[in-house]
Amino acid sequence: MTKTALVTGGTRGIGASISIALQKAGYKVAANYATNHDVAKTFTAETGIKAFSWDVGDFDACATGIAKVEEEIGAVDILVNNAGITWDGMMHKMSAEQWQKVINVNLNSVFNVTRAVIEGMRARNFGRVVNISSINAQAGQMGQTNYSATKAGIMGFTKALARESARKNITVNTVAPGYIETEMTGKIDQKILDSIIAQIPVGRMGHPEEIARAVLFLAADEAGFITGETLSINGGHHME
Ligand code: NDP
Repeated sequence: MTKTALVTGGTRGIGASISIALQKAGYKVAANYATNHDVAKTFTAETGIKAFSWDVGDFDACATGIAKVEEEIGAVDILVNNAGITWDGMMHKMSAEQWQKVINVNLNSVFNVTRAVIEGMRARNFGRVVNISSINAQAGQMGQTNYSATKAGIMGFTKALARESARKNITVNTVAPGYIETEMTGKIDQKILDSIIAQIPVGRMGHPEEIARAVLFLAADEAGFITGETLSINGGHHME
């Protein structure tokens, strides 16, 4: 039977590439997003992938949104926790709101969304969960204590859930991208970006499709022996 994948933040940037790659591989795909309805409409028109708007930082909205996905597309077999934001600032200038917002959207969301699908995966004895972290969890980044904390939290979550879920044929892995060309990195000052690119051995930023390729690999039935792992995709920028 055709498996169903849910990609949070799946209508643009890395998430859109993941949604498209999963669709091309033959999965039924649902793409979640927040408020950018025009982008989501264009994405659906171009790809045929249905988009569902809800805030992944809101526990109840996740339960309602995923119930709708399951009704309209199918029970979620593959979950890609990709939605994320940045709200950068040095620690000594960071507001409580700035900290809490990023923690909520990037990390609480992973609980909110996974909680709504994990019981079904356990009952069906199959699941693939791929969580999108970041090089900035592994290496740290100035101005990103909030963001780096969420992305490092995702790695711990991945390992704990991998242990809990292994006997149920559910794998849980992290993909940690380096700097990828999306609107998120488009916000970074060009001079800073140039200095970052100078540190990347491959000599360029990554493309969203290069992250999608890894997600596809981990989502496969044949990837059942890979769990609790972090796959870093960063052009050699950071080697663990
Ligand atoms: P983009 O900013 O390009 O896209 C973000 C996506 O997440 C959009 O679809 C957006 O929806 C959605 N989103 C944001 N907040 C919420 C929310 N509260 N509820 C539901 N959906 C939400 O991001 P990227 O593609 O660059 O990044 C994707 C992931 O990869 C993020 O987790 C990011 O941290 C991570 N990452 C990115 C890197 C990069 O270099 N770009 C590097 C390392 C990690 P909407 O369109 O409605 O706003």
